[in-house]
Amino acid sequence: MAKVHACYLNKSGSIEIVSNYFQSESTSYGFKFSEMVRQRQIDFNPRYYSHFDHTRQKVFIQYTRTLDDAFALTHESKHFMNYLPNKSFQEEIFSETSSILSELRLGEYLKQTSLKRATELQIKNILYDNYNSFEEIKRNLKCVRIKDYDHKEVNSRIKYLIGLLLSIYINRHIKLGNITTSGYEKIRDHLENMPLSQLAHILDIDINLDNNILNISEGGLLKLEDSYKLEMSSLFRKEDKCYEKCRNCG
Ligand SMILES: [Zn+2]
Repeated sequence: MAKVHACYLNKSGSIEIVSNYFQSESTSYGFKFSEMVRQRQIDFNPRYYSHFDHTRQKVFIQYTRTLDDAFALTHESKHFMNYLPNKSFQEEIFSETSSILSELRLGEYLKQTSLKRATELQIKNILYDNYNSFEEIKRNLKCVRIKDYDHKEVNSRIKYLIGLLLSIYINRHIKLGNITTSGYEKIRDHLENMPLSQLAHILDIDINLDNNILNISEGGLLKLEDSYKLEMSSLFRKEDKCYEKCRNCG
């Protein structure tokens, strides 16, 4: 692992972190990422907003020279690796979940390094990003249950909200030992096409797809709410003096 200052990270520093992270997930992910680097499919620029462009087969990362770049690169690279033309409803609805989950797993990986403090601040930003309360998230999540899918893109905010809630839940239950390594690997590698009964079993949440409508039971929503609130409160108990410092020195 490169020695990087928590407040300053250049392009190769971000690439090295992300490369080591994907390698720690599996040799296959490590290889896919090294191919992206080798084929110059990663582009950093302060003027970009971070996204994956499938027509150009490239990820564009907003270059902020902070740890944020490594998280954005992980997120967009996972989109790159998962890309399929003509997505099914399940692939579409869970497309953000895979990417956000990889960010949270990168966070767990980095907490074991000298970047622990900066990582906690970063995770705090991911969890809190744009959302003031769980009620707002829950209100939005409920829309999925009544939404018809007619092969148009599912609202990207809804996909993000599902991703945020499921990823926090999955990451929390991996840490608690309630989701096994093999359960996690199934989700990581097959979330977009695994039978939902299998996902429901791994998560212990009643979740299913019926006629292209995603249903999460009231009990399931309560479990998601619980894990979200517990993760948030554990993060927000901590002081964040360094946060201002990091922002200012960027
Ligand atoms: Zn995304």
